Amino acid sequence: MVKYKERLEEQKVFIDGEWTTASKGDTYSIINPSTGKTFVECQKCDVEDTKRAIDAARDAFDNGPWPNMSIKERSEILYKVSDMVAKKTWDLSKMDACCNGVPVLQHIVTILDMSPNFKYVCTRAEDLAKPNRIYGEFPIDQIVLREQDGVVALITPWNVPFWQMALKLPAALISGNTVVFKPASQTPLSAIEIARMFERAGLPKGVFDVVTGPGSVVGAEMAKSEKVDHIAFTGETTTGKDIVKNAIGNLKKVTLELGGKSPNIIFDDFPVEEAARMAAMGVSLANGEECFAGTRVLVQDKIYKEVAKKTAEIYGSLNVGNALSLKTNIGPLVTEEQMNKVLGYIESGKEEGATLLCGGYRLKEEELKDGFFIAPTVFSDVRNDMKIAREEIFGPVISIIPFSTEEEAIKIANDTIYGLAGGVMTKDKERAIRVARRIKAGNIFVNTWHMTSSDMPFGGYKQSGWGRLASEEGIKEFTQIKSIYADWHGLTKWLMKAMLLH
Ligand code: NAD
Repeated sequence: MVKYKERLEEQKVFIDGEWTTASKGDTYSIINPSTGKTFVECQKCDVEDTKRAIDAARDAFDNGPWPNMSIKERSEILYKVSDMVAKKTWDLSKMDACCNGVPVLQHIVTILDMSPNFKYVCTRAEDLAKPNRIYGEFPIDQIVLREQDGVVALITPWNVPFWQMALKLPAALISGNTVVFKPASQTPLSAIEIARMFERAGLPKGVFDVVTGPGSVVGAEMAKSEKVDHIAFTGETTTGKDIVKNAIGNLKKVTLELGGKSPNIIFDDFPVEEAARMAAMGVSLANGEECFAGTRVLVQDKIYKEVAKKTAEIYGSLNVGNALSLKTNIGPLVTEEQMNKVLGYIESGKEEGATLLCGGYRLKEEELKDGFFIAPTVFSDVRNDMKIAREEIFGPVISIIPFSTEEEAIKIANDTIYGLAGGVMTKDKERAIRVARRIKAGNIFVNTWHMTSSDMPFGGYKQSGWGRLASEEGIKEFTQIKSIYADWHGLTKWLMKAMLLH
């Protein structure tokens, strides 16, 4: 077992370059889901605290040096933070594991996956910020500029907290925006740690503000505030819809990364053992509490029974344990509430007639008894109209659905309100690309899963979101486009004649 502190000291929030407490002195506890014990107290900020943070970011944008600094100057700060992240990867992973129960090794993998984004944005932003001269049909100068959005509010979920932050924050900062950040209430520690790093790296005050507390209070105020120009949210689709409603006041720009119910289509030319491993892997990151988990496994009928059996064997034998153990494949669910929600879905699967092949219950063995553990669960004979195939479960539950033809697989795959990810497992390259094109989702995995990177766009179709993060698209997402038309040749006098008629 990796050693880590049983309890951390009370955490403060970072507003206007100062470490401070919630103005009313309220705090809330985070319970370590592996042990059921309180791990840390955090500030329970309210609307007033949130307004303070937004005002600081507004002032830093309107009057501070940050928006007018060169990309090179801003890059120097991001590079310093990137180096600090590299040195602190272990610590960041351990603190997040104690907050959300995701195995510590998986936190390391997700940090290594997205931390390159701190440097990536620096290498790409310079080019993207260059004025783009457009040579049109008239002899006038046409220049397209990219500029900052202004004050950006970022809200993230609890499942892979560092990854979620690193997907957005560097892109927002490199273009000169100022940022108010609300991490999920369950997992604020890596965000607080990043604020410490930015402070040490010399970021001007107010440019990055971190507020912790309930989403329905802090997050809702960020969405409503007319001093915020852009809100970038990751979380549940229903919360995303609330954000859109609350953002209407000043019609701020909204970026949404929302839920998923991703199909993993396995064709019968795929070896059974490999197919079962791919099915299990698609739902193994973050205990299945993952937006692009391949939770609907569609298997072609010729190999269906064998793959289902083998998947249950593999998934059912994964090590369930404390998130700090290096042997753990599946940790506890983030909270007792989330565990009960997942158990409710498992009951509904049984009631609707799916066949439970493994798991389906809370684990209560000696060392797990106080935590929120569920045995990895596999259902076969699932129909796509069952609740477990339609709703996002966000836990270690796989639903296996049979299909016979390519056409039928595509139809089932697209029969969902979501469109975040999809997978095609086949040795036939032409079929892989053909099917990949027809799945209505933003991220497609062929013979793999979970392969995301800072230089590829990430986002969803349909109710899985608006906009794209990571890659150049992710940098552009935090900018506005300005078109400048300049007439150096007197062309306007002809236009004037036509308009003013003299
Ligand atoms: P959630 O929607 O409950 O919370 C997400 C964040 O929003 C948290 O910080 C929360 O405090 C805040 N929040 C809650 N109510 C709010 C409100 N009314 N206004 C503003 N903010 C509010 O989601 P969660 O339970 O933390 O995370 C799980 C969900 O996130 C799943 O649906 C999952 O699919 C989704 N998710 C999506 C992606 C993606 O990239 N598409 C990635 C990870 C998670």
